[in-house]
Amino acid sequence: MEQREIVEVSEADETAGCDGGGGALGHPLIYLRFEGKPFVDCYYCSRRFVRAGQFAQAAKPAA
Ligand SMILES: [Zn+2]
Repeated sequence: MEQREIVEVSEADETAGCDGGGGALGHPLIYLRFEGKPFVDCYYCSRRFVRAGQFAQAAKPAA
């Protein structure tokens, strides 16, 4: 089972840019819009970008 990588970004950011980190897992640079959500997942590499301050609730399963 693959572990989803979680990337924290600034709370002020409306978009997160992702290129997969380069190398074998790299992909063309895209910008993902939060559109009011606390996090957004990259549809290329499944990384999850989480806004700072929302990190705890988005990254952890509900307790
Ligand atoms: Zn990506």
